[in-house]
Amino acid sequence: MNLAKHISDTELSAKILRHAVPQMSELNIPVTPDNYAVWYEYYRGVNLDLKRAIDGLLANGVTFTEEVNAGLHSNFVQEKSPEVIENVQIETQLLINNLISKIAQLSQGTETLNASLSGVQEELSHSPDEATLMRLIDGLAEEVNSVISNNAEMAQSLKAMDEEVSSLKSEMENLNLAAMTDQLTSLHNRRAFEEQVLGHIQDFRKKGLNSSLLIVDIDHFKSFNDTHGHVVGDKVLAYIALALKHGVRGEDFVARYGGEEFVLLLPDTNHSGALVVAEQLRQKIADKKLTIGKDKKLSLGNITVSIGVASLKSDDDKESYFVRADEALYRAKSAGRNCVMG
Ligand code: GH3
Ligand code: MG
Ligand code: MG
Repeated sequence: MNLAKHISDTELSAKILRHAVPQMSELNIPVTPDNYAVWYEYYRGVNLDLKRAIDGLLANGVTFTEEVNAGLHSNFVQEKSPEVIENVQIETQLLINNLISKIAQLSQGTETLNASLSGVQEELSHSPDEATLMRLIDGLAEEVNSVISNNAEMAQSLKAMDEEVSSLKSEMENLNLAAMTDQLTSLHNRRAFEEQVLGHIQDFRKKGLNSSLLIVDIDHFKSFNDTHGHVVGDKVLAYIALALKHGVRGEDFVARYGGEEFVLLLPDTNHSGALVVAEQLRQKIADKKLTIGKDKKLSLGNITVSIGVASLKSDDDKESYFVRADEALYRAKSAGRNCVMG
C-alpha cells in the first residue's frame, strides 16, 4: 500500500500512525522508536526493499522476534534520510497533540463533577426528603468513582505517552546529531552549516548582530594525497579540523563543508575582526611541521591553507553571503595561496 499520494506530511504521519500501531501490536512488536521507524517506512511505501522483506516475512508467517525486528531496522532503515528525520519530528508533534487532548479530557471530567456538585448543593438547599437524599448520594458516589477511575486510566496513558515522547525525543536528537556531523572530523557538516547561516542572518536582521564567514581551503591537497596517500590525507583533514576548532572561540561555529574545505561562522564579529582571526588560523597551520608515525620519523612538511572572508550585509541572503567569501577565497588562491583575502 502506498499512502504517500497527494497528502501533507502531517496527514500522512497520522495515517501511518493509525495503520502501523495496530499492526505492530497484532504482531506483538513492541512500539520502540526503531521498530516504529521500520513500520513507518513500510506503510510509507517508498522503501521497496523493506516492503518486499516484510511482505515476505508476513507471507511465511514468520514471528517478529527481537532479532528479526533489529535486522529489519539495521538492514533497511539505519541510513536515515533527512526526510525520515523530519517525519520523526512530525510523529513527536502528533504524540504531543494527543497528550494535550488527553489533558483537556481530564479537566473536562473534573468539570462534570463540579457541575453535578453544584446541582446537588442546589437540591440540598430545598430540604430534600430521605429518598431524594439517597438518590443524590448515590449519584455523587457514581460521579466521583467515574472521575477517579478516569483519572487512573488517564494517568496510565499519560505515563505511557510520556515515555513514548521521551524515547522519540532522544531518538530524534540522535538522528539530528548524526545527520549534522561530519564522520571523518567530528565537526559539524554542511547541513548543519546551512542551518547555522540562517540563524546568523536572522540574528543580524532582528538584533543587528554582526556575522563573518571564513571559507578555508587546503592548498594543493590533491598533490599531498598523491604523494602520501589518502589515509595520511584523511589524518591531515582531521588535524586541520582540530586546529581550526581550537583556534577560535567556543561560540564560533566550525564545519567541514566538504572535501578539503571548511567553513567558520563567527558571531558578533565584524570584517576587520574576522580578517585577524583568519590570519591567525592561516599562520598557525602554516607554521606547524607535520610528522607521522610512532616516533614521528616521517616528515610531511608543512600544509598551508587559503582563506576567503566575508561579513554579512543587510541585503545578503545565504547564497550571496557565501558567494562573497568564495570569491575572496578564489582571489587568495590566485594570489599564490597560503594567504587571506576578504
Ligand atoms: P587548491 O590549492 O587549488 O585548492 O588545490 P587542491 O589540490 O587542494 O584542490 P582540488 O580541488 O583540485 O583538489 C582537492 C583534493 O582534495 C582532491 C582530493 O584529493 C582531496 N580530498 C577531498 N576530500 C578528501 C577526503 O575526504 N580525504 C582525502 N584524503 N582527500 C580528500
Ligand atoms: Mg577545494
Ligand atoms: Mg584545495
